[in-house]
Amino acid sequence: MDLTAPVAKLPMIGEAYQRRLAKLNIYTIEDLLFHFPFRYEDFSLISNVQSLQAGETVTIQGKILFIKNEFTRNRKFIQKATVIDETGSIDIVWFNQTYLTKTLPPQTAVSLSGRVDIFRKQRALVSPAWEILQGEETIHTGRLVPIYPETYGLSSKWLRAKIKQLLALCANDIKEYLPPQMLKKYSFLALSDAISQIHFPQNFDQSQKARERMMFDEMLFVHLKSLLRKKDWDEKRAAQPFSISKFKGEIQRFWQSLPFRLTNAQNRAVKEIFTDLARNRPMNRLLEGDVGSGKTVVAAIAMYLAFLNGWQSVLMAPTEILANQHFTTISHLLTPLGVNVALQTGSRKTAKNSPDFNVIVGTHALLSKSLTINKPGLIVIDEQHRFGVEQRALLLKKNNLKTTPHVLTMTATPIPRTVALTMYGNLDLSYVDEMPSGRLIVKTWVVPPVKRDGAYRWIRQLIAKKQAQVFIICPFIEESESQITVKAAKKEYERLKNEVFVNERLGLLHGKMKAKEKTMVMENFRRKKLDILVATPVVEVGIDIPGATIIVIEGSERFGLAQLHQLRGRVGRNDRQSYCLLFSESESPQSLSRLKNMEKIYVGAELAQLDLTLRGPGELTGTKQHGIPALKIASFSNAGLIEKTAAEAKALLKTDPTLKNARLLKEKLKTYTIQAVEPN
Ligand code: ADP
Ligand code: MG
Repeated sequence: MDLTAPVAKLPMIGEAYQRRLAKLNIYTIEDLLFHFPFRYEDFSLISNVQSLQAGETVTIQGKILFIKNEFTRNRKFIQKATVIDETGSIDIVWFNQTYLTKTLPPQTAVSLSGRVDIFRKQRALVSPAWEILQGEETIHTGRLVPIYPETYGLSSKWLRAKIKQLLALCANDIKEYLPPQMLKKYSFLALSDAISQIHFPQNFDQSQKARERMMFDEMLFVHLKSLLRKKDWDEKRAAQPFSISKFKGEIQRFWQSLPFRLTNAQNRAVKEIFTDLARNRPMNRLLEGDVGSGKTVVAAIAMYLAFLNGWQSVLMAPTEILANQHFTTISHLLTPLGVNVALQTGSRKTAKNSPDFNVIVGTHALLSKSLTINKPGLIVIDEQHRFGVEQRALLLKKNNLKTTPHVLTMTATPIPRTVALTMYGNLDLSYVDEMPSGRLIVKTWVVPPVKRDGAYRWIRQLIAKKQAQVFIICPFIEESESQITVKAAKKEYERLKNEVFVNERLGLLHGKMKAKEKTMVMENFRRKKLDILVATPVVEVGIDIPGATIIVIEGSERFGLAQLHQLRGRVGRNDRQSYCLLFSESESPQSLSRLKNMEKIYVGAELAQLDLTLRGPGELTGTKQHGIPALKIASFSNAGLIEKTAAEAKALLKTDPTLKNARLLKEKLKTYTIQAVEPN
């Protein structure tokens, strides 16, 4: 069987299920095989009926003696059955599954797993998992039962049955891809054993062995992929080197035109970038720094150098708001120096032809076919994780040159250093890990429900004294900016306007608004025509409103710490004291103590590290909340694994740089994708 074939090729997977599987990123047969459980239900204790004790979790196997539907007083059905084995009988109860009387008629041999309870003063199994006994092996009962990441309409029970079938069908098609010496060195299970044991382990020890093997594989893939991309970039491409010495005077004047002095970290980044730009190999560098650390001006200097050398620069941002803002900043910095800056977004285009600009700032609209860029020398991508590999590739291909433009990607997504080096191992890294001096830290408080009114009162007083402009961030309800999130934001906006901030001027900003409306609201806020901006978490992405001094975050327990840190970075952008109020309705002590970290820690990468360590391994959703991609099974918090696999990946490529002796591994790498992001 061809494991790379779509799941549609499997028997009994219709269109509806294909759609649901796609929601879990399962498209091919192999994807389904590699959809691993995140835990197991322990139903391995098989007991006879006589010896059952209330409170135990057990499996019993016997025959249905009797089964019926019973109509209860609150208009619901319960299903009552009696099951016997050689030692005795026990009652079984289910709720609202009337079909069971047909599926499990008397005499059916069944296996049932669950907790022994007391129901109507009798020992009973209440809502147990069940399956009809056929042959020896059980799937849903009587063993360690795998629990999978699920989606609406796609249960673990369904996945279990399908994967069990599939394992039988393709036992011989799972081909080992790791080199034999590596398997031996770590005493790994063979791939086919690891896959079958991770789904249906004989015991916990085997499941652990299987997980270890699969975690190793995944982290190894991550390293190999980024090392191979780096090699590809380094070997195949040539770039136009920029001269620096010729333009010493101009660069000097640019420094002097700035209203501030660069921080040491900014200076270091500029130096690293200039060294790259002077080479005849294209730069591929990630500029990583907290919000407000001043990455834009660093990029502007690089674009100025490109201009001085007669090359065009492109700056691509993920949203229209950000593109507009960059356009304003870059124009302000570079136009006085004779640089022609253009803008291209969905709703605004200021240049028609390539020769009309030296720098073009924009959104995805920059990828439009009608825009030509004749001499791109430098491409800057802001918040790189919002763009895919294809989009970067499109930008790079936008010319007929033999050379490749230099690429600078920027991100304020706080990533721990280990993660950056693993995920983005193909990029050179510049960390802007220092804030401009004189910047005050944003005082942060976790605000419990009883103090909410007091907080509102305090905000009203500051607004009345013209001392504050306020962001109020609505709860994060779903990953994307869904209708539900927007509706909740609108409702909260109405509540605040009518009940809390009656005399203040409020605006609303959400992702479903038209770009023009968004820009207008932002402008009004920037020009202080609004006191309060109620927003969905979209404002997270790099907005710069110097006058804003307070940010209130509702439902803060739903955010990752790193994301809260990014939101907090929306204020404190001037020399006045700023504040971040974390509202939470949660009463869970863990939740609150997690949030309390925000009162003490002000370094993004540190908070990101905490997100990694505080997040349970079973928690597979919410990648966008912290910007760190979700791996299938390995974890970025596993430093030992990262180190070990990095060494193995390097050693492997050293002896076999193109993996020509590891053909199957090379093929596997092609089909392995990390869910969220892979900058080229
Ligand atoms: P980010 O790294 O989040 O993109 P920005 O580039 O938007 O940060 O910079 C945030 C603010 O700090 C801007 O208003 C910018 O003019 C200012 N800034 C940048 N560098 C310095 C510096 N060295 N000293 C003082 N202010 C600076
Ligand atoms: Mg920025």
